Amino acid sequence: MARCPTAHPADASGCTGRPLVTVLDRDNAGADGCEHHAARLLATLAGGRVYGLPHDTDGAAVRVFRAAGRLRPWPWSADARPAAVSVADVART
Ligand SMILES: [Zn+2]
Repeated sequence: MARCPTAHPADASGCTGRPLVTVLDRDNAGADGCEHHAARLLATLAGGRVYGLPHDTDGAAVRVFRAAGRLRPWPWSADARPAAVSVADVART
């Protein structure tokens, strides 16, 4: 099954639903994602932001923001690495 655009290739976890939010980096490059993967991407981005998509009427962006605060950067990796500065950097790594 295809996963949402915020899922990192090295992250084996599945989506928790359809994309409800957009995660943006400092340069406003972004990706839409399910709550689970969006929180993981947001935790990995220094200065990242999250917004609900227009059909998000249930506070998904707030839940993603809170969940990201409980995660370290690159939560799918065993390596402790500093946060990335852009969505492109995350995708490249
Ligand atoms: Zn997902």
